[in-house]
Amino acid sequence: MTVLSHALTGGPALPQERRLVTSLPGPKTQELQARKSAAVAPGIAVMMPAYVAAAGGGVVVDVDGNSLIDLGTGIAVTTIGNADPAVAAAVADQAAKFTHTCFMISGYESYVEVAERLNRLTPGDHAKRSALFTSGAEAVENAVKIARIATKKQAVVVFDHAYHGRTNLTMAMTAKSMPYKSGFGPFAGEIYRAPMSYPYRDGLSGPEAAKIALTQIEKQIGADNLAAIVIEPIQGEGGFVVPAPGFLPELVAWSKANGVVFIADEVQTGFARTGAMFACEHEGIVPDLITTAKGIAGGLPLSAVTGRAEIMDAAHPGGLGGTYAGNPIACVAALATMDAYEQGGLIERAQQIEAIALERLTAAQSRDPRIGDVRGRGAMLAIELVDPTTGEPDAPLAAATAKAAHQQGVIVLTCGTYGNIIRLLPPLSIPDHLLAEGLDIMLAALATN
Ligand SMILES: *Cc1c(COP(=O)(O)O)cnc(C)c1O
Repeated sequence: MTVLSHALTGGPALPQERRLVTSLPGPKTQELQARKSAAVAPGIAVMMPAYVAAAGGGVVVDVDGNSLIDLGTGIAVTTIGNADPAVAAAVADQAAKFTHTCFMISGYESYVEVAERLNRLTPGDHAKRSALFTSGAEAVENAVKIARIATKKQAVVVFDHAYHGRTNLTMAMTAKSMPYKSGFGPFAGEIYRAPMSYPYRDGLSGPEAAKIALTQIEKQIGADNLAAIVIEPIQGEGGFVVPAPGFLPELVAWSKANGVVFIADEVQTGFARTGAMFACEHEGIVPDLITTAKGIAGGLPLSAVTGRAEIMDAAHPGGLGGTYAGNPIACVAALATMDAYEQGGLIERAQQIEAIALERLTAAQSRDPRIGDVRGRGAMLAIELVDPTTGEPDAPLAAATAKAAHQQGVIVLTCGTYGNIIRLLPPLSIPDHLLAEGLDIMLAALATN
């Protein structure tokens, strides 16, 4: 067993090993599952057969003492590692000073400093402003509000397979009906969906796919009515779809030429996750507005809209905000987390994880034609599982593989419009041997299903 020293990223000194001392779920988890069923609304589903006692480095330890390999980071949130010591210390210190004032009532420095850092870290060296919120969906909603007031236009374009959240506006923007939207309408208006570049399924180049999308936008909506294009530069819940090179730059150029605000939703891809500070950088694009959340604060709830000063300045005083938006504990956690990103080494670590994982995933693909596609960037990688003869999505195989991995103590998530994607979102603090073991267990589970 190795105890990770965390020179790179911190984390509690939990033994960095997979260790199963009960079958999963263990007896204490089973008790909690029964209490959960009685007390918690069933709409809130829990995926893993393990309730958590501690987490750090590359492991999650459950209440029965099982140590699981974390290839999920609570959906791309604990990128720098769970319970990072610098984050934990900043949170404890702030909690003892003041826990809340409401920034709209009385301000505090940490909020301002988070905004300054976001303005510096995000793509582009133009004048920027930031506004802080609590959840990713709230950031997306506010980006739409800002784009609408700045352009005095209303229509918003989103894409096939998009995921932007679970609030009413962001449900409308999200593509997939089950489980996110079905039965929960009516949805917000003036949201239009365009075809996404999906190289594995459409076989188109980026510019070809962009031409189709932009023609549809021009003919069905018209630039005169369009406030914003909102897109995940690499799609998250929709299937880790990486658009073909050139797709995003064409959309940006068209937006600029037509007075349309280009909004990059980097809630999942942001902060070193993809082997760049932001996924936009892989294509050299500079969005007008960028939304961030998940990896921003080491697990504390915080989100942001950052963008061009002249667009951000369009919203009148009092028009943006929220009681908890930019909570002081979340802000100091974000500063500690951004210290880790700015100290360097984490982007390189994401690239190393990509190299280690891709080697295993592509080798498995050459043996198993059910792995139709291997894709993603950095520590955001996925395999798309298909029927090898028809190419049809194989969701039951993805579900069975994930379930078998869970039983053996590996946290992996599925995703995709068709539910046939297994996605990998390891923490950058995971030691190599755990990453390799987790991948091998997932791939062995696939091989035997
Ligand atoms: C998770 C996610 C959201 C929503 O964030 P919440 O914090 O769950 O509201 C929005 N956009 C993208 C790309 C996401 O991955």
